[in-house]
Amino acid sequence: TSRTFVMAKPDAVERGLVGEIVSRLERKGLTLVAAELRSVSQELAQEHYAEHADKPFYDELVAFLTRSPVFAMVVEGPGDDTWELCRILIGKTKVTDAQPGSIRGDFATTTNENLVHGSDGTESAAREIKLWFGDRA
Ligand code: ATP
Repeated sequence: TSRTFVMAKPDAVERGLVGEIVSRLERKGLTLVAAELRSVSQELAQEHYAEHADKPFYDELVAFLTRSPVFAMVVEGPGDDTWELCRILIGKTKVTDAQPGSIRGDFATTTNENLVHGSDGTESAAREIKLWFGDRA
């Protein structure tokens, strides 16, 4: 088994798409092992997106993530590739690349507000699970 971090971002919670997102993960055969609706502090948002600190859209990213609550999840699957399965279900980052059938492809209309985050590798999954859930997952 392996675990990854998935988050329904503020736009997903605002639009009432949390159930849809969780349902797609579960129908795939993945399991929630921890989940929490929570407000995000400035510090946590900055830390989460630390790899983008020097990008022109960083401030916008942090403002977006702190705008309203997110639904943070730890997701588990049977193989060692759970993070990758989640990324496929989520769809491509750029809105015009996200294929129908993926969450972004079916529901997102902009790259900035693309509904969901998923860790992009084994190491970032471990880092993000620790960052968001600490000892609680
Ligand atoms: P996330 O980390 O949110 O899951 P991702 O891993 O698919 O997204 P990243 O490249 O890590 O994509 O970018 C993080 C976030 O930054 C994206 O979700 C998107 O909201 C935003 N972003 C990425 N590229 C751009 C861009 N060129 N212009 C504006 N925002 C962008």
